[in-house]
Amino acid sequence: MDISGKVMTVKGAIDPSDLKKTITHEHFFIDLSKSHFPHQPPIYNKPGNKTIGNTPSSSSSTRATNYPSRPTELDFPATELNLWNAKVDFGNLHLARNSEPIADNYILSDVNLAIKEALEFKNNGGSTVVDVTNRGLKRDPEALLKLSEATGLNIIMGSSWYQKMFHPRDMDDKSVENLTDEIVEDITVGVNGTGIKSGIIGEVGVNGGPITRNEEKCIISAAIGSKLTGAPITIHSGGVGEEKHHTLDLIEKEGVSLNRVIMGHSDWLADHYEFALELIDRNVFLEFDLIGRESALEISPTAKDIQIVTKLIQDGHEDKILLSQDVCFKSNLKHYGGFGYSFVLEKFIPHLHSLGISNIQTDKMLIDNPKKILQFIAPVH
Ligand SMILES: [Zn+2]
Repeated sequence: MDISGKVMTVKGAIDPSDLKKTITHEHFFIDLSKSHFPHQPPIYNKPGNKTIGNTPSSSSSTRATNYPSRPTELDFPATELNLWNAKVDFGNLHLARNSEPIADNYILSDVNLAIKEALEFKNNGGSTVVDVTNRGLKRDPEALLKLSEATGLNIIMGSSWYQKMFHPRDMDDKSVENLTDEIVEDITVGVNGTGIKSGIIGEVGVNGGPITRNEEKCIISAAIGSKLTGAPITIHSGGVGEEKHHTLDLIEKEGVSLNRVIMGHSDWLADHYEFALELIDRNVFLEFDLIGRESALEISPTAKDIQIVTKLIQDGHEDKILLSQDVCFKSNLKHYGGFGYSFVLEKFIPHLHSLGISNIQTDKMLIDNPKKILQFIAPVH
């Protein structure tokens, strides 16, 4: 299969010029609940530990660093079951917002609500969403297709594996070849026998700290899968600090140009501008995809995103920037008072304009850059 020059959506291949305003890192249907059991190890790194980029609790790149490779047993004091099993509602929303363990907050599964929320993006001028939900997260190709048909939005679906705690039980036994075959099948045949195809490889769940062998296998199979299909790659953070270079080295070693790679959750680089430039020098796209997160949660205060995005634009790097919000919890949805899928278009872009950033510059980040990275290139066998 060679769809070079086209973009693969859940409805099939389309012309890149049809993408228009695009956000590149979202989730419409997902189950992240097992990473939020009560009494998980601390999910934020403490100040001062590790290397560059590990400032206190600055993004989900550091957030998951301490997670075990396997979810710990679902065993915690029985009295905590009430909250764990509660539905998110206006009585407990404040707890959900503070990341208290309410399983329901970490599940997005309502098609009608997803349609309503996605239309917020469309009604603010949006046209395309990359849903980077992949294996192990209850990825749902048929629901994504329904959503695309109901809203008229282009939706691009992910492939490959997320963070290590969501890896399949037999991950240790899987070879790079096994993993590559599964990725290639998602892209060329379709996901789970639906015939609905992935259009991007990722988000490849590299947490690092340190990068495990299974994470390396995911990176290498993503690279080989990209070469064999021409699909782009999107990485969840790519490890901690210098590990990002290691991740990129592994991809490059397979002969994949790094201009085919999105480095996700780059928001924390606001505090490490020189390091951001190092990554841009390697030609990856830097994705600021936690835009809208509240500073109360200590994740990606949107002010940091404003700071780094404006600085990068002023320094002439708007060709390498992508924007998104990474909606993945119920409390992120507008229905529950969150920022929703439209925050970038509704709030972030107008704010950039008020700071003197031009329409041409913001269109680069929303239209031209997604057009470049999301279109397939010729496969190499
Ligand atoms: Zn994500």
